[in-house]
Amino acid sequence: MPELPEVETVVRSLRQEVVGKKILDIKNKWPRQISSMELDELRERVSGTTITQLDRRGKYILFTLDSSDSMIIHLKMTGQLLLQPTSSAMQDHVHTVFMLSGNEELRFRDVRKFGRIYLARNAESIVGELGPEPLSRSFSASLLHKMLHGRRRVLKPLLLDQRFIAGIGNIYADESLFWAKLAPNRISNTLSRLESDRLHSSIRKTLRMAIDNGGATISDYRQPDGSEGEMQKSFSVYGRAGESCVRCDGCIERVVLGGRSTFFCRSCQL
Ligand SMILES: [Zn+2]
Repeated sequence: MPELPEVETVVRSLRQEVVGKKILDIKNKWPRQISSMELDELRERVSGTTITQLDRRGKYILFTLDSSDSMIIHLKMTGQLLLQPTSSAMQDHVHTVFMLSGNEELRFRDVRKFGRIYLARNAESIVGELGPEPLSRSFSASLLHKMLHGRRRVLKPLLLDQRFIAGIGNIYADESLFWAKLAPNRISNTLSRLESDRLHSSIRKTLRMAIDNGGATISDYRQPDGSEGEMQKSFSVYGRAGESCVRCDGCIERVVLGGRSTFFCRSCQL
């Protein structure tokens, strides 16, 4: 599933291309991709508007329109937003096409069909339940320490909880815990201030490095021009069960924690 770095890569790459463009029309072959609204209503409210701003919140992509509506897209498991010339061949599994001024199309491709499009007067009504942005200035080490101690939860599933911190998913939770030298089954309110500080800096370093690498392509994720991310080449633990640890002479293990595959080194993550 695309996580914060993948969604951020999509937003940064699309922003310079689509801001200022007009959405001329919408083509849709699978209306259930549109959440809580009929296709006709979406088309009526969106066609003819201009995209004035493009932002990310957690794993959501926010299009601000000059009609003062926000169109919000969540890629979920396998969603891709591809920006293509109108004349280019249509890919398989494209369910919605936003026809843009300048003879370009924004194509929402989704093999597993979990991704969704929302339209709202107030974006907060869709994304409002999210926790803080981990790369924001206000997300300080002391705030994280306070947040961890306000709960008594197993660390890895807590990091995946979007109401706790926005944008972290299975891959970057495992990578962050590895660099923080913390076992994924630690209880949140047992972390010392030093351990919270390590987790804070490893979350930010891991996410920034992944953004610099254009995200990670494990299976479906693509950048809007169709190219793959590079971050998967730099994983330290994720998907590396049975391989040796890059930090100690231990071996990476895979366990299931909170229903999710979890990769870690028992020797150096305590
Ligand atoms: Zn190790």
